[in-house]
Amino acid sequence: MYKFVIAGGGSASSAMVGHILRTRRILPSEILVIEPCRYHHYQPGWTMVGGGLLGSESDIMKKSLFLLQQNTENMFHPKVEILQKEVTGFDPENNKVFVSGNESVTYENLIVTLGIDTDYKAIPGLVQAIEDPNSPVGSIYKFPYALKMNKIIQEFKGGNAIFNMAPQPVKCAGAPQKIMHLAYESFQKNGVEKFKVDYYMPQPVIFGVPKYANILKNIAASKGIGVFPEHQLTRIEPEKRTAYFKHSNTEIAVKYDLLHVTPPQRPVDVLRKSKIVDAAGFVDIDKYTLQHKKYPNIWSLGDCSSLPNSKTMAATMSQSLILVNNIFKMIDGKPLNAKYYGYSSCPIFVGDNKLLLCEFKYDGVLDESFPHLQNSPSRLLFLAKKYFFPRVYLHLIKRGWWYGRNLIFRPNFF
Ligand SMILES: Cc1cc2nc3c(=O)[nH]c(=O)nc-3n(C[C@H](O)[C@H](O)[C@H](O)COP(=O)(O)OP(=O)(O)OC[C@H]3O[C@@H](n4cnc5c(N)ncnc54)[C@H](O)[C@@H]3O)c2cc1C
Repeated sequence: MYKFVIAGGGSASSAMVGHILRTRRILPSEILVIEPCRYHHYQPGWTMVGGGLLGSESDIMKKSLFLLQQNTENMFHPKVEILQKEVTGFDPENNKVFVSGNESVTYENLIVTLGIDTDYKAIPGLVQAIEDPNSPVGSIYKFPYALKMNKIIQEFKGGNAIFNMAPQPVKCAGAPQKIMHLAYESFQKNGVEKFKVDYYMPQPVIFGVPKYANILKNIAASKGIGVFPEHQLTRIEPEKRTAYFKHSNTEIAVKYDLLHVTPPQRPVDVLRKSKIVDAAGFVDIDKYTLQHKKYPNIWSLGDCSSLPNSKTMAATMSQSLILVNNIFKMIDGKPLNAKYYGYSSCPIFVGDNKLLLCEFKYDGVLDESFPHLQNSPSRLLFLAKKYFFPRVYLHLIKRGWWYGRNLIFRPNFF
């Protein structure tokens, strides 16, 4: 019986454990993290990998790997127990989680942070293309494929470079545009003479928040990037270097010389078949308190939760503060007094060492931290994103020393 069991050992989990321990009300030995993977990834770094901001593949492996990948136990207090197994089921009535090897763990409080699955198999032809080192198809949504993306961008000699967006939910929905702009910049730097960049998306607009949609639309237009709304990638024929998109019930064939794929994303299998999720397969929690709607000792945050916000690490950091406050209020028998209003942020690289920082909350309402820097792409914020945040992630988050947009200052409800 653990006081806290945390299902999943990714970004949300590391932040949660850091904040729980900072309250000094719980010993590390009272927490169990269940995570099958040996390595923990800083996923926002994968855009920089693919886009060449960290150099070539060999530069990355020699100089930057420590920023991108850590042993899972390094992202937690050394006395927190990590169970290197997969969660295989939930028994919320009996406060139990099942894990691989037919074992189970009992909890007082369960925090579910299982992320979201990328489903490359859902696009026929994609796995064959992306696994083939000679096929110019890559994706920043997996580390090995991001390394391949880096290589195919550098080797691109001209022609059609195609980038797609998947249907929502997509973690970091701005990432497909980031890699597109970084690729465009590399083509120019590498002296590629004849190239055309196009962006295909199932959504009707390029970004869900009108202010940023206008800025991003203008940036794309200024570079001659074609933007194709309501086009959904359905299949690929790698031999013909052709991608197919569904548009108004017709199939459109597009030839490519380079293709970046954002894969469809879906809740992890173990959640989809469990009792703790909504109809879409995400953990069914209150959108303000982050407490489960039916089981009060179950909580969730991050990409696997039903929160109707944009799925990002920045959102997760904000949620972790609300959750830790509310969980201790519940333990103390007090009302849950902290509310999450959907804060999320998406820093979009747009080339020329600049970045557009998009910050918003539920219903796409603006929620900006630096309004004077957010009306156009900023070099200062680019530097912060490239150099500062990966190090904050590595050193501060696991220690509970990072309060999201409050930086290192504890919010007053805490
Ligand atoms: C290319 C890319 C760029 C991004 N850029 C940004 C950005 O610039 N800014 C930003 O804020 N966010 C960004 N994100 C999004 C951010 O990385 C995620 O939103 C964040 O990692 C979510 O944290 P999480 O803990 O919910 O999920 P994850 O960090 O994915 O962790 C989920 C964990 O659950 C584990 N797990 C899965 N199934 C099981 C199981 N059955 N049993 C036990 N464990 C399991 C996984 O192994 C994983 O460790 C980006 C993501 C990508 C892919």
